[in-house]
Amino acid sequence: MGEKYKHIETAVIHEGYDSKEHLGSLTTPLFQTSTFTFDTAEQGENRFAGLEDGYIYSRLGNPTVRVLEEKIAALEGGEAGLAFSSGMAAVSAVLFALTKADDHILCSKGLYGCTFGLLQLMEEKYRITHDFCEMETEEQVRGMIRPNTTCIYVETPINPTMKMIDLAMVMKVAKEYGVPVVVDNTFSTPYLQRPLEFGCDIVLHSATKYLCGHGDIVAGLIVGKRDFINQVAMTTQKDIGGVISPFDAWLLLRGLKTLPIRMDRHTANATEIFRMLKEHPRVKAVYYPGDVESQDYRITEKQMKSGGGMISFEIEGTKQDAQKFLNNLKLIKIAVSLGDAETLIQHPATMTHSAIPKESRELMGINDQLIRLSVGLESWHDIWTDLEQAF
Ligand SMILES: *Cc1c(COP(=O)(O)O)cnc(C)c1O
Repeated sequence: MGEKYKHIETAVIHEGYDSKEHLGSLTTPLFQTSTFTFDTAEQGENRFAGLEDGYIYSRLGNPTVRVLEEKIAALEGGEAGLAFSSGMAAVSAVLFALTKADDHILCSKGLYGCTFGLLQLMEEKYRITHDFCEMETEEQVRGMIRPNTTCIYVETPINPTMKMIDLAMVMKVAKEYGVPVVVDNTFSTPYLQRPLEFGCDIVLHSATKYLCGHGDIVAGLIVGKRDFINQVAMTTQKDIGGVISPFDAWLLLRGLKTLPIRMDRHTANATEIFRMLKEHPRVKAVYYPGDVESQDYRITEKQMKSGGGMISFEIEGTKQDAQKFLNNLKLIKIAVSLGDAETLIQHPATMTHSAIPKESRELMGINDQLIRLSVGLESWHDIWTDLEQAF
Protein backbone atom coordinates (compact mmCIF):
# COMPACT_ATOMS: atom_id res chain seq x y z
CA MET A 1 0.00 0.00 0.00
CA GLY A 2 1.13 3.56 -0.61
CA GLU A 3 2.35 5.92 2.08
CA LYS A 4 -0.69 8.13 2.14
CA TYR A 5 -3.64 5.82 2.71
CA LYS A 6 -3.12 2.77 4.89
CA HIS A 7 -6.28 0.95 3.84
CA ILE A 8 -6.89 -0.20 0.28
CA GLU A 9 -10.63 0.59 0.53
CA THR A 10 -9.70 4.27 0.97
CA ALA A 11 -6.75 4.25 -1.42
CA VAL A 12 -8.80 2.97 -4.41
CA ILE A 13 -10.97 6.07 -4.04
CA HIS A 14 -8.59 8.87 -3.01
CA GLU A 15 -5.02 7.92 -3.95
CA GLY A 16 -3.37 9.89 -6.75
CA TYR A 17 -5.98 12.64 -6.99
CA ASP A 18 -6.54 15.96 -5.21
CA SER A 19 -9.74 17.81 -6.14
CA LYS A 20 -8.14 21.11 -5.01
CA GLU A 21 -5.83 20.93 -8.01
CA HIS A 22 -8.81 20.63 -10.39
CA LEU A 23 -11.28 23.42 -9.53
CA GLY A 24 -12.88 21.20 -6.90
CA SER A 25 -13.98 18.54 -9.38
CA LEU A 26 -14.92 15.52 -7.24
CA THR A 27 -14.01 13.03 -9.95
CA THR A 28 -10.85 13.07 -12.02
CA PRO A 29 -11.31 15.34 -15.07
CA LEU A 30 -11.04 13.68 -18.46
CA PHE A 31 -8.21 15.29 -20.45
CA GLN A 32 -9.35 14.08 -23.85
CA THR A 33 -6.52 15.67 -25.81
CA SER A 34 -3.74 14.39 -28.02
CA THR A 35 -1.30 17.22 -27.44
CA PHE A 36 -0.42 20.10 -25.09
CA THR A 37 0.45 23.63 -26.18
CA PHE A 38 3.69 25.33 -25.19
CA ASP A 39 3.77 29.03 -24.21
CA THR A 40 6.98 29.55 -26.14
CA ALA A 41 9.37 27.66 -28.41
CA GLU A 42 11.90 27.64 -25.55
CA GLN A 43 9.39 25.98 -23.24
CA GLY A 44 8.91 23.26 -25.87
CA GLU A 45 12.66 22.81 -26.07
CA ASN A 46 12.98 22.53 -22.29
CA ARG A 47 10.17 20.03 -21.98
CA PHE A 48 11.70 17.78 -24.64
CA ALA A 49 15.08 18.13 -22.96
CA GLY A 50 13.56 17.14 -19.61
CA LEU A 51 14.60 20.44 -18.04
CA GLU A 52 11.03 21.46 -17.30
CA ASP A 53 8.11 19.37 -16.04
CA GLY A 54 4.90 19.43 -18.04
CA TYR A 55 2.92 17.54 -20.62
CA ILE A 56 3.99 17.32 -24.27
CA TYR A 57 1.89 14.76 -26.14
CA SER A 58 -0.52 12.10 -24.83
CA ARG A 59 1.65 9.16 -25.93
CA LEU A 60 4.29 10.52 -23.52
CA GLY A 61 1.90 11.31 -20.69
CA ASN A 62 -1.59 12.64 -19.95
CA PRO A 63 -3.00 14.04 -16.66
CA THR A 64 -5.98 11.64 -16.46
CA VAL A 65 -3.69 8.71 -17.19
CA ARG A 66 -1.18 9.97 -14.63
CA VAL A 67 -3.78 9.75 -11.83
CA LEU A 68 -4.44 6.14 -12.78
CA GLU A 69 -0.70 5.36 -12.82
CA GLU A 70 -0.18 6.85 -9.37
CA LYS A 71 -3.17 5.02 -8.01
CA ILE A 72 -2.15 1.56 -9.25
CA ALA A 73 1.42 2.12 -8.02
CA ALA A 74 0.11 2.89 -4.52
CA LEU A 75 -2.33 -0.05 -4.55
CA GLU A 76 0.46 -2.49 -5.45
CA GLY A 77 2.89 -0.82 -3.03
CA GLY A 78 5.33 0.11 -5.81
CA GLU A 79 7.22 3.27 -6.70
CA ALA A 80 5.65 4.01 -10.08
CA GLY A 81 3.04 2.75 -12.54
CA LEU A 82 2.42 2.89 -16.27
CA ALA A 83 -0.80 2.39 -18.25
CA PHE A 84 -1.22 0.62 -21.61
CA SER A 85 -3.84 0.09 -24.29
CA SER A 86 -4.17 -3.61 -23.35
CA GLY A 87 -2.80 -6.23 -21.03
CA MET A 88 -0.77 -7.61 -23.94
CA ALA A 89 0.75 -4.17 -24.63
CA ALA A 90 1.88 -4.20 -20.98
CA VAL A 91 3.24 -7.78 -21.21
CA SER A 92 5.16 -7.08 -24.42
CA ALA A 93 6.54 -3.72 -23.20
CA VAL A 94 7.91 -5.43 -20.07
CA LEU A 95 9.31 -8.50 -21.83
CA PHE A 96 10.99 -6.47 -24.58
CA ALA A 97 12.44 -4.12 -21.93
CA LEU A 98 13.97 -7.03 -19.99
CA THR A 99 15.44 -9.00 -22.90
CA LYS A 100 17.67 -8.71 -25.94
CA ALA A 101 18.51 -11.23 -28.66
CA ASP A 102 19.76 -14.60 -27.29
CA ASP A 103 18.41 -14.06 -23.76
CA HIS A 104 16.23 -16.58 -21.94
CA ILE A 105 12.93 -16.24 -20.01
CA LEU A 106 11.88 -18.75 -17.36
CA CYS A 107 8.09 -19.07 -17.08
CA SER A 108 5.52 -20.67 -14.87
CA LYS A 109 4.07 -23.84 -16.39
CA GLY A 110 0.91 -22.18 -17.58
CA LEU A 111 0.41 -18.80 -19.16
CA TYR A 112 -2.28 -16.71 -20.76
CA GLY A 113 -2.61 -17.87 -24.40
CA CYS A 114 -1.38 -14.66 -26.04
CA THR A 115 1.57 -14.38 -23.63
CA PHE A 116 2.50 -17.85 -24.88
CA GLY A 117 2.11 -16.58 -28.46
CA LEU A 118 4.33 -13.57 -27.76
CA LEU A 119 7.07 -15.82 -26.33
CA GLN A 120 7.00 -17.89 -29.52
CA LEU A 121 7.28 -14.79 -31.67
CA MET A 122 10.23 -13.56 -29.58
CA GLU A 123 11.93 -16.91 -30.08
CA GLU A 124 11.32 -17.07 -33.83
CA LYS A 125 12.31 -13.48 -34.55
CA TYR A 126 14.92 -12.62 -31.91
CA ARG A 127 16.19 -15.98 -30.57
CA ILE A 128 14.89 -15.05 -27.12
CA THR A 129 14.17 -18.52 -25.75
CA HIS A 130 11.93 -19.63 -22.88
CA ASP A 131 11.26 -22.65 -20.71
CA PHE A 132 8.26 -23.64 -18.65
CA CYS A 133 9.00 -24.62 -15.08
CA GLU A 134 6.76 -26.40 -12.57
CA MET A 135 8.06 -24.02 -9.84
CA GLU A 136 6.95 -26.29 -7.02
CA THR A 137 10.37 -26.35 -5.32
CA GLU A 138 13.48 -24.17 -5.12
CA GLU A 139 15.47 -26.94 -6.83
CA GLN A 140 13.16 -26.90 -9.86
CA VAL A 141 13.61 -23.16 -10.31
CA ARG A 142 17.36 -23.23 -9.62
CA GLY A 143 17.80 -26.11 -12.06
CA MET A 144 16.28 -24.20 -14.97
CA ILE A 145 17.91 -20.77 -14.59
CA ARG A 146 20.55 -20.35 -17.27
CA PRO A 147 23.47 -17.91 -17.54
CA ASN A 148 21.41 -15.92 -20.09
CA THR A 149 18.15 -15.89 -18.08
CA THR A 150 17.15 -12.23 -17.72
CA CYS A 151 13.57 -12.64 -16.56
CA ILE A 152 11.36 -14.98 -14.55
CA TYR A 153 7.74 -14.61 -15.60
CA VAL A 154 5.00 -15.95 -13.34
CA GLU A 155 1.22 -16.15 -13.26
CA THR A 156 -0.38 -17.10 -9.96
CA PRO A 157 -3.03 -18.39 -9.85
CA ILE A 158 -2.23 -19.75 -13.31
CA ASN A 159 -4.84 -19.13 -16.01
CA PRO A 160 -6.89 -21.35 -16.42
CA THR A 161 -5.70 -24.24 -14.21
CA MET A 162 -5.72 -22.13 -11.02
CA LYS A 163 -2.42 -23.68 -9.87
CA MET A 164 -0.59 -21.51 -7.35
CA ILE A 165 3.05 -20.48 -7.23
CA ASP A 166 4.84 -19.59 -4.01
CA LEU A 167 6.18 -16.10 -4.74
CA ALA A 168 8.47 -15.92 -1.69
CA MET A 169 10.10 -19.20 -2.76
CA VAL A 170 10.62 -18.07 -6.37
CA MET A 171 12.03 -14.75 -5.11
CA LYS A 172 14.53 -16.46 -2.87
CA VAL A 173 16.05 -18.26 -5.86
CA ALA A 174 15.75 -15.26 -8.21
CA LYS A 175 17.67 -13.09 -5.75
CA GLU A 176 20.54 -15.60 -5.66
CA TYR A 177 20.94 -15.14 -9.41
CA GLY A 178 19.94 -11.47 -9.61
CA VAL A 179 17.13 -12.23 -12.09
CA PRO A 180 14.08 -9.91 -12.02
CA VAL A 181 10.70 -11.52 -11.41
CA VAL A 182 7.57 -10.36 -13.23
CA VAL A 183 4.14 -11.37 -11.91
CA ASP A 184 0.91 -11.22 -13.91
CA ASN A 185 -1.50 -10.31 -11.10
CA THR A 186 -4.64 -10.11 -13.28
CA PHE A 187 -6.56 -12.87 -11.48
CA SER A 188 -5.92 -11.56 -7.97
CA THR A 189 -5.70 -7.76 -8.20
CA PRO A 190 -3.82 -5.87 -5.44
CA TYR A 191 -6.85 -6.33 -3.20
CA LEU A 192 -6.12 -10.06 -2.91
CA GLN A 193 -2.38 -10.34 -3.59
CA ARG A 194 0.52 -7.85 -3.68
CA PRO A 195 3.56 -9.52 -5.26
CA LEU A 196 5.89 -6.57 -4.61
CA GLU A 197 5.49 -7.23 -0.88
CA PHE A 198 7.11 -10.62 -1.49
CA GLY A 199 10.06 -8.92 -3.18
CA CYS A 200 8.93 -9.38 -6.80
CA ASP A 201 10.23 -6.70 -9.16
CA ILE A 202 7.40 -5.97 -11.58
CA VAL A 203 3.65 -6.53 -11.38
CA LEU A 204 1.46 -6.35 -14.45
CA HIS A 205 -2.24 -6.51 -15.15
CA SER A 206 -4.77 -6.95 -17.82
CA ALA A 207 -6.84 -4.09 -16.37
CA THR A 208 -9.58 -5.19 -18.77
CA LYS A 209 -10.61 -7.70 -16.11
CA TYR A 210 -11.25 -7.12 -12.37
CA LEU A 211 -9.57 -3.70 -12.15
CA CYS A 212 -12.09 -2.24 -14.59
CA GLY A 213 -14.77 -4.69 -13.50
CA HIS A 214 -17.45 -3.57 -15.94
CA GLY A 215 -16.39 -5.19 -19.20
CA ASP A 216 -16.30 -1.94 -21.17
CA ILE A 217 -12.59 -1.38 -21.94
CA VAL A 218 -9.34 -3.19 -22.85
CA ALA A 219 -6.34 -1.90 -20.87
CA GLY A 220 -3.08 -2.87 -19.16
CA LEU A 221 -1.02 -1.64 -16.20
CA ILE A 222 2.46 -2.23 -14.83
CA VAL A 223 4.07 -1.29 -11.50
CA GLY A 224 7.69 -1.41 -10.41
CA LYS A 225 10.75 0.60 -9.39
CA ARG A 226 10.73 4.18 -10.73
CA ASP A 227 13.90 3.67 -12.79
CA PHE A 228 12.47 0.64 -14.55
CA ILE A 229 9.09 2.27 -15.18
CA ASN A 230 10.80 5.38 -16.62
CA GLN A 231 12.92 3.16 -18.82
CA VAL A 232 9.81 1.36 -20.18
CA ALA A 233 7.98 4.68 -20.61
CA MET A 234 10.84 6.11 -22.68
CA THR A 235 11.56 2.97 -24.77
CA THR A 236 9.15 0.10 -25.33
CA GLN A 237 6.09 2.20 -24.49
CA LYS A 238 7.05 5.43 -26.23
CA ASP A 239 8.38 3.80 -29.38
CA ILE A 240 6.05 0.82 -29.73
CA GLY A 241 3.20 3.04 -28.61
CA GLY A 242 0.62 0.90 -26.83
CA VAL A 243 -0.71 3.73 -24.67
CA ILE A 244 -4.12 3.84 -23.03
CA SER A 245 -6.68 6.39 -24.22
CA PRO A 246 -7.58 9.08 -21.65
CA PHE A 247 -11.22 8.01 -21.77
CA ASP A 248 -10.35 4.39 -20.98
CA ALA A 249 -8.14 5.59 -18.11
CA TRP A 250 -11.11 7.61 -16.84
CA LEU A 251 -13.42 4.57 -16.97
CA LEU A 252 -10.78 2.51 -15.21
CA LEU A 253 -10.52 5.10 -12.41
CA ARG A 254 -14.28 4.88 -12.03
CA GLY A 255 -14.24 1.08 -11.88
CA LEU A 256 -11.35 0.94 -9.40
CA LYS A 257 -13.29 2.78 -6.71
CA THR A 258 -15.44 -0.31 -6.09
CA LEU A 259 -12.69 -2.94 -6.47
CA PRO A 260 -12.69 -4.06 -2.79
CA ILE A 261 -16.46 -4.49 -2.50
CA ARG A 262 -16.64 -6.20 -5.89
CA MET A 263 -13.81 -8.60 -5.00
CA ASP A 264 -15.48 -9.50 -1.70
CA ARG A 265 -18.70 -10.36 -3.52
CA HIS A 266 -16.87 -12.28 -6.28
CA THR A 267 -15.13 -14.34 -3.59
CA ALA A 268 -18.29 -14.91 -1.55
CA ASN A 269 -20.19 -16.08 -4.65
CA ALA A 270 -17.29 -18.24 -5.89
CA THR A 271 -16.99 -19.90 -2.48
CA GLU A 272 -20.64 -21.04 -2.70
CA ILE A 273 -20.38 -22.11 -6.35
CA PHE A 274 -17.18 -24.03 -5.60
CA ARG A 275 -18.93 -25.87 -2.76
CA MET A 276 -21.85 -26.82 -5.04
CA LEU A 277 -19.62 -27.86 -7.98
CA LYS A 278 -17.56 -30.09 -5.72
CA GLU A 279 -20.66 -32.10 -4.79
CA HIS A 280 -22.05 -32.42 -8.31
CA PRO A 281 -21.84 -35.93 -9.82
CA ARG A 282 -20.99 -34.65 -13.33
CA VAL A 283 -17.99 -32.66 -12.11
CA LYS A 284 -14.74 -34.64 -12.16
CA ALA A 285 -12.51 -32.04 -10.54
CA VAL A 286 -12.74 -28.43 -9.36
CA TYR A 287 -9.83 -26.02 -9.09
CA TYR A 288 -10.18 -23.03 -6.80
CA PRO A 289 -7.50 -21.20 -4.76
CA GLY A 290 -9.93 -21.07 -1.84
CA ASP A 291 -10.17 -24.89 -1.67
CA VAL A 292 -8.94 -25.64 1.88
CA GLU A 293 -8.40 -29.30 0.95
CA SER A 294 -6.08 -28.62 -2.01
CA GLN A 295 -2.29 -29.00 -2.00
CA ASP A 296 -1.92 -25.36 -2.97
CA TYR A 297 -3.99 -23.95 -0.13
CA ARG A 298 -0.89 -23.30 2.01
CA ILE A 299 0.22 -20.89 -0.75
CA THR A 300 -3.20 -19.21 -0.89
CA GLU A 301 -3.03 -18.68 2.85
CA LYS A 302 0.46 -17.22 2.64
CA GLN A 303 -0.02 -14.76 -0.20
CA MET A 304 -3.71 -14.17 -0.96
CA LYS A 305 -6.43 -12.49 1.07
CA SER A 306 -9.04 -14.90 -0.30
CA GLY A 307 -9.66 -17.34 -3.14
CA GLY A 308 -11.09 -14.74 -5.57
CA GLY A 309 -13.76 -15.19 -8.20
CA MET A 310 -12.24 -17.61 -10.72
CA ILE A 311 -13.02 -21.34 -10.73
CA SER A 312 -12.08 -24.03 -13.24
CA PHE A 313 -13.64 -27.47 -13.36
CA GLU A 314 -13.60 -30.62 -15.44
CA ILE A 315 -16.90 -32.00 -16.63
CA GLU A 316 -17.48 -35.72 -17.21
CA GLY A 317 -17.48 -36.62 -20.90
CA THR A 318 -16.03 -35.31 -24.13
CA LYS A 319 -15.34 -31.93 -25.72
CA GLN A 320 -18.86 -32.11 -27.20
CA ASP A 321 -20.32 -32.65 -23.73
CA ALA A 322 -18.46 -29.58 -22.46
CA GLN A 323 -19.78 -27.54 -25.39
CA LYS A 324 -23.32 -28.83 -24.88
CA PHE A 325 -23.13 -27.80 -21.23
CA LEU A 326 -22.14 -24.26 -22.24
CA ASN A 327 -24.93 -24.11 -24.81
CA ASN A 328 -27.50 -25.10 -22.16
CA LEU A 329 -26.76 -22.04 -20.01
CA LYS A 330 -29.33 -19.25 -19.93
CA LEU A 331 -28.14 -16.57 -17.47
CA ILE A 332 -24.40 -17.20 -17.69
CA LYS A 333 -22.78 -15.78 -20.81
CA ILE A 334 -20.37 -17.72 -23.01
CA ALA A 335 -17.48 -15.28 -23.35
CA VAL A 336 -13.75 -14.98 -22.80
CA SER A 337 -12.52 -12.24 -20.44
CA LEU A 338 -13.28 -12.30 -16.72
CA GLY A 339 -13.84 -10.18 -13.66
CA ASP A 340 -17.04 -8.56 -14.86
CA ALA A 341 -20.37 -8.11 -13.06
CA GLU A 342 -21.82 -10.78 -15.39
CA THR A 343 -20.86 -14.41 -14.80
CA LEU A 344 -18.82 -15.54 -17.82
CA ILE A 345 -17.93 -19.05 -18.90
CA GLN A 346 -15.51 -20.31 -21.55
CA HIS A 347 -13.80 -23.45 -22.85
CA PRO A 348 -10.02 -22.80 -22.70
CA ALA A 349 -8.98 -25.63 -25.07
CA THR A 350 -11.03 -24.17 -27.94
CA MET A 351 -11.01 -20.50 -26.90
CA THR A 352 -8.39 -18.63 -24.80
CA HIS A 353 -5.74 -21.35 -25.10
CA SER A 354 -6.63 -22.74 -28.54
CA ALA A 355 -3.50 -21.24 -30.15
CA ILE A 356 -1.29 -23.45 -27.97
CA PRO A 357 -0.50 -26.80 -29.65
CA LYS A 358 -2.53 -29.65 -28.10
CA GLU A 359 0.53 -31.35 -26.58
CA SER A 360 1.80 -28.22 -24.81
CA ARG A 361 -1.74 -27.45 -23.76
CA GLU A 362 -2.22 -30.82 -22.13
CA LEU A 363 1.15 -30.53 -20.39
CA MET A 364 -0.20 -27.32 -18.88
CA GLY A 365 -3.23 -29.26 -17.61
CA ILE A 366 -5.73 -27.90 -20.13
CA ASN A 367 -7.82 -30.80 -21.43
CA ASP A 368 -11.04 -30.79 -23.45
CA GLN A 369 -13.13 -31.25 -20.30
CA LEU A 370 -11.80 -28.12 -18.60
CA ILE A 371 -14.21 -25.20 -18.24
CA ARG A 372 -13.34 -21.80 -16.78
CA LEU A 373 -15.91 -19.83 -14.85
CA SER A 374 -15.63 -16.16 -13.89
CA VAL A 375 -18.16 -15.91 -11.09
CA GLY A 376 -20.01 -12.60 -11.36
CA LEU A 377 -21.87 -10.36 -8.96
CA GLU A 378 -25.38 -11.79 -9.43
CA SER A 379 -27.08 -13.73 -6.64
CA TRP A 380 -25.11 -16.97 -6.29
CA HIS A 381 -28.41 -18.83 -6.08
CA ASP A 382 -29.27 -17.70 -9.62
CA ILE A 383 -25.77 -18.60 -10.87
CA TRP A 384 -26.04 -22.06 -9.37
CA THR A 385 -29.60 -22.64 -10.63
CA ASP A 386 -28.34 -21.93 -14.16
CA LEU A 387 -25.31 -24.23 -13.84
CA GLU A 388 -27.41 -27.01 -12.34
CA GLN A 389 -30.03 -27.00 -15.10
CA ALA A 390 -27.25 -26.99 -17.72
CA PHE A 391 -25.70 -30.21 -16.30
C1 LIG B 1 -6.64 -11.16 -20.45
C2 LIG B 1 -5.31 -11.49 -19.89
C3 LIG B 1 -4.15 -10.94 -20.44
C4 LIG B 1 -4.17 -10.07 -21.69
O1 LIG B 1 -4.80 -8.86 -21.45
P1 LIG B 1 -5.61 -8.01 -22.58
O2 LIG B 1 -6.12 -6.86 -21.78
O3 LIG B 1 -6.68 -8.89 -23.11
O4 LIG B 1 -4.62 -7.62 -23.62
C5 LIG B 1 -2.94 -11.24 -19.84
N1 LIG B 1 -2.88 -12.05 -18.75
C6 LIG B 1 -3.98 -12.59 -18.20
C7 LIG B 1 -3.85 -13.47 -17.00
C8 LIG B 1 -5.24 -12.33 -18.74
O5 LIG B 1 -6.32 -12.89 -18.20
